[in-house]
Amino acid sequence: MIFSPLFSRTQAERLKTPLSMDQPLIEMTDIVKTFHSGSVEFTALHQINLQFYPGEFVSIVGRSGSGKSTLANMITGIDHPTSGSVKVGGDMIHEMKESQMAVWRGLNLGIVFQFFQLMPMLTLFENVKLPMDLSNHIPVSERDQRVFELLDLVGMRELADQLPDEISGGQQQSIAIARSLANDPPILIADEPTGNLDSKTASAVFEIFTGLAKSGKTIIMVTHDQSLAERTGRIVKISDGRLVNGSEQKRAAR
Ligand code: ADP
Ligand code: MG
Repeated sequence: MIFSPLFSRTQAERLKTPLSMDQPLIEMTDIVKTFHSGSVEFTALHQINLQFYPGEFVSIVGRSGSGKSTLANMITGIDHPTSGSVKVGGDMIHEMKESQMAVWRGLNLGIVFQFFQLMPMLTLFENVKLPMDLSNHIPVSERDQRVFELLDLVGMRELADQLPDEISGGQQQSIAIARSLANDPPILIADEPTGNLDSKTASAVFEIFTGLAKSGKTIIMVTHDQSLAERTGRIVKISDGRLVNGSEQKRAAR
């Protein structure tokens, strides 16, 4: 385990069910998602059955419009399935109310988006600290120190007092990753985190995820970048809302 002082709270302590490497951490069963706009109905996910295991680094690939973000949103609870269930560490998240979900998400998931979504009026330090203040899980006396350690982890301590628009896209994404780790969530979900970065910067950001995977985080990364996908432990491929043959296999060698 690297970065151990930062990630001392184990997944097992946080989640309801004690984890075993052979038990799925995330279990999607018979997920169907249908969107309605006016009288038009469109099914974006067809009967998805998919599991993710503790400590896996999985990429989700597929063409634009194939349903990658919709799939990721089922796990984050940003959107709800039309039918089917999503179980994460023993919690049936598709059954949660939004207020419950917000608390649950704040503690268990780190979410990283393509366009960083930092708060423009807050310094980088304040951006990373914000989830700690919102979730109130990390003791107040430990928060500032933890922010600095997370900034160190992504190589950004020197810039702590800058504002988001004063730094590059790659640096903003590094801050967004640090922020996603604020409450030490066991799971990170990133939707095209390198989609807005040049390939060299994308590679550097990807390395941060690789390090986090080695430290025991479970990482699900939606990506367009085949070369990055090939560097993850397993590739799940989706096409027109269906898993492509083979990607529902339990677990590839890591
Ligand atoms: P990807 O992330 O793979 O590019 P998405 O999951 O965003 O694809 O979208 C999958 C399909 O679902 C697309 O055809 C998209 O137009 C459709 N879709 C996504 N969100 C909505 C929505 N809120 N309402 C209607 N259709 C949607
Ligand atoms: Mg998408």
